[in-house]
Amino acid sequence: MKRILTGDTPTGRLHLGHFVGTLENRVKLQNEYEVFIILADTHALTTLSEVPEKIKEYTKEVLLDNLSIGLDPKKVTFFKESDVAEIYELASIFSMYVSHNRALRNPTIKDEIASKGLGDLFSLGFINYPIYQAADILCVKAELVPVGKDQEAHLEQTREIARVINKFAKSELFPEPKALIGRVGKLVGTDGNPKMGKSLNNTIYLSDSKEEVEKKVMGMYTDPKRIHANDPGTVDGNPVFVYLDTFASEADLKKVEDFKTRYQKGEVGDVEVKKFLVEVLNSLLEPIRKKRLEFKAQDLDAILKEGAEKTRRIAGETLNQVKESLSLV
Ligand code: ATP
Ligand code: MG
Repeated sequence: MKRILTGDTPTGRLHLGHFVGTLENRVKLQNEYEVFIILADTHALTTLSEVPEKIKEYTKEVLLDNLSIGLDPKKVTFFKESDVAEIYELASIFSMYVSHNRALRNPTIKDEIASKGLGDLFSLGFINYPIYQAADILCVKAELVPVGKDQEAHLEQTREIARVINKFAKSELFPEPKALIGRVGKLVGTDGNPKMGKSLNNTIYLSDSKEEVEKKVMGMYTDPKRIHANDPGTVDGNPVFVYLDTFASEADLKKVEDFKTRYQKGEVGDVEVKKFLVEVLNSLLEPIRKKRLEFKAQDLDAILKEGAEKTRRIAGETLNQVKESLSLV
């Protein structure tokens, strides 16, 4: 079976953006591929270095998020990055083959520095992260990586690393992994920011209660030019309609089209459309909330322990091959 590796940084719980960007594809492919899900806890130190205890809490939440959307722990391997030390050894070898300039040229890194307001206060690990990520992916020789659009640039760097190592190792050690972008590559935030992001305070979490969903939706950004319910409104790019297009079930599509027509003519108020969106989202999230409760009662540490053992075995073999072919043995 071909392998998938993907995962999340435990810097917060997972949200609707993750759901359409990557989680849905994980579920869809869990029977066709051998799937590895990494909880990149070391990576989380790039944003939570001053409150490391939070990473532990979020690691558990993110594992629960993944389980509650329908990933089966009997089929899928979950592991914490910090449990597989082979990844760091591999990453340090890879870093010898990446120029300093190339590391700084990564467009996603540049975007994150701007959107998170990091200025010049980012760590060396932050810039290095795409190289660690290459080690996350290549340690199990994954061929497919289901991710959101913002990860495309990182994947390109992984592919470059695979090529350069293969070249100097004089053997086809690594596949060139492909990104698989979800049906919405970048979901807009509740505030109209182009990206719903854990660090941006514009999220609807998979674990939000009915009431939280209602509160967030009723406060959502819509069409700023529309003041009265009878002003004609804009549907394109309006986050409320983006969410309706993305999350309404087949059976609700006609209703969505009707709302759009009336909204553009100024025949329906924001409140009515938002109330409908609350219903749509809560019916998507209700089964996820239920599953989360079931998994909460299970031994999550055991899942991570088993996953770490399996991944270490595979990563250890990969590391040996790399060292041998680069004359380090
Ligand atoms: P952080 O701000 O800490 O980087 P994040 O919200 O970007 O958090 P990650 O853990 O970095 O979350 O991303 C996990 C996966 O979800 C990645 O594949 C990423 O591309 C995808 N993803 C994150 N946000 C969105 C979004 N708004 N729309 C689509 N995909 C997303
Ligand atoms: Mg991210």
